[in-house]
Amino acid sequence: MSTTKPTIAVIGAGLGGAAAGALLQKAGYPTQVYEQAPEFSRLGAGIHLGPNVMKVMRRIGIEDALDRMGSHPDHWFSRDGATGEYLSRIPLGDFAKKEYGASYITVHRGDLHALMVDQLDQDRLHFGKRLEKVDDQGDKVVMTFTDGTQDTADIVIGADGVNSVIREHLLGEEQPIYSGWVAHRAIISAEKLKAYDLDFEACVKWWSEDRHMMVYFVTGDEKEYYYVTGVPEPDWNHGTSFVDSSREEMRKAFEGYGETVQALIDCTDNVTKWPLLERNPLPLWHDNRLVLLGDAAHPMKPHMAQGAAMAIEDAAMLVRCLDTVGAENYADAFELYRANRFERASRVQKVSHDNTWLRYDEDPAWVFAHDVYEVPLKDPKTE
Ligand code: FAD
Repeated sequence: MSTTKPTIAVIGAGLGGAAAGALLQKAGYPTQVYEQAPEFSRLGAGIHLGPNVMKVMRRIGIEDALDRMGSHPDHWFSRDGATGEYLSRIPLGDFAKKEYGASYITVHRGDLHALMVDQLDQDRLHFGKRLEKVDDQGDKVVMTFTDGTQDTADIVIGADGVNSVIREHLLGEEQPIYSGWVAHRAIISAEKLKAYDLDFEACVKWWSEDRHMMVYFVTGDEKEYYYVTGVPEPDWNHGTSFVDSSREEMRKAFEGYGETVQALIDCTDNVTKWPLLERNPLPLWHDNRLVLLGDAAHPMKPHMAQGAAMAIEDAAMLVRCLDTVGAENYADAFELYRANRFERASRVQKVSHDNTWLRYDEDPAWVFAHDVYEVPLKDPKTE
């Protein structure tokens, strides 16, 4: 049997694709990464990285850099939007390090993404390559890009997000489900907040019956504060992935919320609005030489702040499974991967959909303490 490792193509250099590419290249797999965007820019958004993800970042070699880059909240607070009453106080900070095995940080999404993309072999990262179609010919996969070029690989990983071309190839054309909720996103200069005699906590979610505003710092120096909302909106007919929103729209959406939230709205210069898209758990994650990860397999509402986390855990588990059974047995490796990711990803999808996570005191260990490298592997045959 040949000991040569198969050639791997990763479609999409988002957070899941960049993690997969970096981990595969580190493990010695000849891996090319193809990204449709001509380049990446620092879009105004933040992201939580829980200890479960930081353990993967340790393997990629960027845990320390992220620890320096991010804000380290001592708690996740949930508070009533109108009265300010605390609904939950979830300990993070040193507690998270000790109990869950790594830090809980919040960072700027663009800074995180740039750091992750830097971990890729830059000669094997191809921007401006939008996959148009794949042809799994049995002994190899031929990829055709919209610029008319073609490439081949032994294995193709679809890390191409909610509108994945690989998912469509496997399961047919089907639009994602608009959840009926949008997210507003804005970054606020902490300098502006000094004008208020209010406590702007490092990580707090303000709730009411059908909506919320999650707020946190995105830099370790706490110069940039960020909010992201969940607000019901019956239809999304804009035809774009986001639109501009406004301070006026925010005031209306958060009428009745207390002075801290009103101060954040007053300090908002630019705010965007994004549709929250989902899919029901997919019946198929892989076929022959093709396999899915991240939002391509399980897009979800972002209300647990674990969507990218699931994409990154997928990447780590996929590489673990290829190493475990030998990449030449890729079909077995893909089935082992699916068996060890489906249940967890689907559970996170469901809790995110219900938007109940950490609203009241609960033990978050099943999410944060998870170590994708240490969890015993489930045999697909005994599922
Ligand atoms: P994506 O990030 O969508 O990346 C897919 C990549 O593939 C893109 O770069 C795209 O350009 C590229 N691509 C697409 N099609 C093609 C093609 N045909 N050819 C080549 N390239 C292609 N998650 C968290 O863990 N924590 C959070 O705090 C958090 N907050 C969120 C807040 C909001 C408002 C939203 C909407 C999401 C949030 N998420 C969060 C979820 C997270 O953003 C996604 O789950 C995550 O980005 C999925 O990563 P991915 O790599 O699978 O897909």
